[in-house]
Amino acid sequence: AKELGRGRFAFFDPQINERNQRAMKVKSELPRALERLEFSLVYQPKQKPDGTITGYEALMRWQSAELGAVSPAEFIPLAETSDALELMTDWLLQQVVADLKDPKLSGKQIAINLSPRQFQGGNWAESLKQTIETNNLRPEQLCIEVTEGALVENFATAAEQLSAVQALGVEVAVDDFGTGYSSLEYLKRLPIDYLKIDRSFVRDIETDADDRVIVETIIVLAHSLGLQVVAEGVETRAQADFLSERGCDELQGYLFSAPRPLSELGEQQVKI
Ligand code: C2E
Ligand code: CA
Ligand code: CA
Ligand code: CA
Repeated sequence: AKELGRGRFAFFDPQINERNQRAMKVKSELPRALERLEFSLVYQPKQKPDGTITGYEALMRWQSAELGAVSPAEFIPLAETSDALELMTDWLLQQVVADLKDPKLSGKQIAINLSPRQFQGGNWAESLKQTIETNNLRPEQLCIEVTEGALVENFATAAEQLSAVQALGVEVAVDDFGTGYSSLEYLKRLPIDYLKIDRSFVRDIETDADDRVIVETIIVLAHSLGLQVVAEGVETRAQADFLSERGCDELQGYLFSAPRPLSELGEQQVKI
């Protein structure tokens, strides 16, 4: 052990070291990934219990020449501490705008995930507004998903930015709802259209009575506040049945479709 200062020691841990090196490598590849056009988007449908697809969530994919396929769960948190994030967001928005011109997406809403730093930096709503105007989009064609954790961490900024986004007519969803310890007060004060019930509660609906109660309560709560509810991570028919019987407005998950590239989106629907 190496002494760092009074009473503080750092132990050399090869695992931590390996993780740090990987993180540095991934981070340093991000700007190149943009230059080499290694990012792409996949789309996962959201549907009503009757099978109507209302929209798609855009999820980023990265096929790196250096590193192979890198998951967004790995590179997005690293991008958040990198200068590449802004360019990645610009790329994402431009790609979504281009894809919205495809007849397959006509009349559908595209949801985009935004991480905390993406709307803390300056005037994101303003550049979104310009994008909408330049491309003659209807604002309701876009939805912004922000995790509950991000909202709780920086409530004032988030509230301000989301209000600006909603004022444009773009919809707002709280992602991973139930994991971020937000208070009811937050929900009341934030401009929100949708709550997305986190996958972790959906997963064990069939076996865990507590999770069933949590899911039922979220649905009732959301509806009483005038919000719509989407469940993510729906993998089984039993989960879908439970959710739609309890009044969940929209469902999303592998039961219906994995996220797919635009070219592979079909019209196949699963009726509940
Ligand atoms: P998320 O926003 O909660 O997205 C849902 C994740 O669950 C996606 O993983 C999706 O592929 C996966 N998923 C969908 N249906 C099912 C299911 O039925 N079962 C299971 N087990 N998983 C399902 P993915 O694409 O790997 O993305 C992981 C996370 O990375 C996302 O979580 C999101 O937080 C972040 N992310 C992805 N794309 C972007 C992006 O463009 N911008 C930002 N800021 N974050 C992104
Ligand atoms: Ca999401
Ligand atoms: Ca989510
Ligand atoms: Ca999640």
